[in-house]
Amino acid sequence: MPINMLHTLRQIVQGVNQSEALDDALQFLVTQTKQALETQCCSVYLANVEAGHFTLMATDGLAQSSVGNAVIGFHEGLIGLVGEREEPINLANAHQHPRFKFIPQVEEEQLNAFLGTPIIHQGRVLGVLTIQQADARQFSEQEESLLVTLSAQLAGVLAAAKARGQLTAASSHQRSMVVLQGVAGSPGIAVAQAWVERVAVELEDVVEGQHQDLDAELERWQNAVLQTREYIERLSLRLGESLDRDVLAIFDVYQNILNDNSISGAVEQHIRANASAETALVRVAKDYIGQFAAMKDAYLRERATDIRDLAQRLLYFLQQRAHELTEHEQPLVLVAEEVTASMLASIPRDKLLGIVSVRGSSNSHAAILARALGIPAVLGIADLPLKKCAGRDVILDGYSGRLYLSPSAAVKEEYARLLRQESELQIEFEKNRELPAATADGRRLSVMINAGLAADTEHYGGGADGVGLFRTEIPFMIQDKFPSEEFQFQTYCNILNRFPGQPVTMRTLDVGGDKALPYFPIREENPFLGWRGLRMTLDHPEIFLVQMRAMLKAHHKCRNLRIMFPMVTNIAELEQAKKLLRKAHAELQDELGEHFALPPLGIMIEVPAMLYQLRAVADQVDFVSVGSNDLTQYLLAVDRNNARVANLYDELNPAVLNALNSIAQQCRQYQLNFSICGELASDPLGAILLVAMGYKVLSMNAANIGRVKWALAKVSMSQCQHMLQKALNLSSADTIRRQLYVDMDSFGLGALIRPGQ
Ligand code: PEP
Ligand code: MG
Repeated sequence: MPINMLHTLRQIVQGVNQSEALDDALQFLVTQTKQALETQCCSVYLANVEAGHFTLMATDGLAQSSVGNAVIGFHEGLIGLVGEREEPINLANAHQHPRFKFIPQVEEEQLNAFLGTPIIHQGRVLGVLTIQQADARQFSEQEESLLVTLSAQLAGVLAAAKARGQLTAASSHQRSMVVLQGVAGSPGIAVAQAWVERVAVELEDVVEGQHQDLDAELERWQNAVLQTREYIERLSLRLGESLDRDVLAIFDVYQNILNDNSISGAVEQHIRANASAETALVRVAKDYIGQFAAMKDAYLRERATDIRDLAQRLLYFLQQRAHELTEHEQPLVLVAEEVTASMLASIPRDKLLGIVSVRGSSNSHAAILARALGIPAVLGIADLPLKKCAGRDVILDGYSGRLYLSPSAAVKEEYARLLRQESELQIEFEKNRELPAATADGRRLSVMINAGLAADTEHYGGGADGVGLFRTEIPFMIQDKFPSEEFQFQTYCNILNRFPGQPVTMRTLDVGGDKALPYFPIREENPFLGWRGLRMTLDHPEIFLVQMRAMLKAHHKCRNLRIMFPMVTNIAELEQAKKLLRKAHAELQDELGEHFALPPLGIMIEVPAMLYQLRAVADQVDFVSVGSNDLTQYLLAVDRNNARVANLYDELNPAVLNALNSIAQQCRQYQLNFSICGELASDPLGAILLVAMGYKVLSMNAANIGRVKWALAKVSMSQCQHMLQKALNLSSADTIRRQLYVDMDSFGLGALIRPGQ
């Protein structure tokens, strides 16, 4: 495709993305596309699933009076045919096609040639984009590929514009509700107002306001200037090595604008006249932008973009401070582009009712944290209009992955009923929490917790037989530099002391993938297949040795530690890591002038290659723990963090079940202790299957201990095995799940199955 065409396409997609209202977005789309493709007509139809038809939403070439009125059934006419076939249809003479449907009001009698392409988002036909012309000739291959490219790029953008448009409508007619579908990240229901975390704001989003305290407002403004200055300096230093001098000069321009008293002075003047800092900034910035944009000189005109960019950065810091100062008084649902551990930590637990994000998926670490804290979450809502959500009433359904914005009274009532039901069940589960974990026929099991945040262990509520997985990278993630040996020693002692006499399995640093340390960025094309876990720490013995010394010291004091290595791919890595462990141990013994035994050592089974090396592993370690989250991701080649392929990530996939079963069988054969610490163990259904396979130690997020114990206490070992045998004979995750639900229902576990799951 010619470069200038690519540029035009990008401009169209950007224009659609920037339009606030759906109608404007669509009108922009058809006008620009018609012009770019030099044709006589371009139209877009959107699907109305409830009504079962497409509606003409915008056109440049057909009768304007038919916009919003002309409809065509999903199985009617050429538009319906494009939707059914989910592929382009290119005809020299549309009127001669047997599926052509004459709709008088659109007035297309003169238009013979027709090219229609479906707009498909996440596997669903969202609409159809068409171009038409009088000449009875087929559109060229080049034109066809352009329209296909445009439709593919537009799909996500249009879905987002549609949600934004619906929301704008929802605020004017209070009754209309918007339902968005994401990935179920953590079970539960939350009903509250949305709190949107740090959205990159645009000047146009600022609502005019006044301040209450002049000095405080001036200080807020000056702080934002300071932070922006520092930010630009950092950015310019960081990019200094990779950018040309003339590109870097842009940062000097920014610094000059910031240093120039005329802008800052003008903003302060507005603040003195009672405007809020944001309002003052927007007024001054718009004034400058207007002046620059009107200049004849191309270079000076470009400065308008610089001022806008800079003003938005200032706005970001102004609002960020406002966020930091916010004391959350009302319960809220946190909404963000991507949820981080520090965001979760910044909101008091009793105020945080739910989590919603644009990115992420059910096994991303944000989801795992949410489950560990027992907070319902819906992630991966790609078309979530972040800026439009703030302050809205929302209902989040963490079972079905649905988010209701401005829910209707009927939906609110239904969810209030479900919430009541849920809290009754929760009381039931809590009764089981402190009881020993066992099946109905008395087979004893061990239930451990997965932890990482101090809060996990402080508030977990009891009932565990120890810690099956302590993710040491989480304390690392909320620091601003690698924590010292002393700090780590204290952290580890705290955890070990909280579980006296019970085993605590700590995993060495597992960064990389979706777990980044702010002070040690790793940028890779394929982070989950890259420098992750043990691979990284073996390359940095200085970091690894400090961590192992801290762990061993803590063990020397408390005596209940077990050490585990993550992401092991081969025996050589394991031997190398053991060598470093022995080195740290020897050093420490020398320092302490005392001999003490090494703690039990294990590895995680999460790289599929380990399934074929268990015999050799058995000679090297005391135990293994299955990380089913990563094992599923690597076995199925599905990024656990990517919402687009979330439907493929399924621990009930027969391949995963067979792999888990094979690990259990092999470990028994090689007399190797085994347990599981992936999320599957936190799900009662998963726990039942694992117990049937022979897993006696299940490590799970603390919030689910009561639920899992309650379920296990209701089924006998032979019922578990009966369910497993049936599951292993089925060939797809869906049929397995359906069968398991039927069995669970018959064993009195029906309350755990939620509609929509
Ligand atoms: C796993 O992969 O299953 C696991 C427990 O580790 P993490 O989720 O931290 O990668
Ligand atoms: Mg893992």
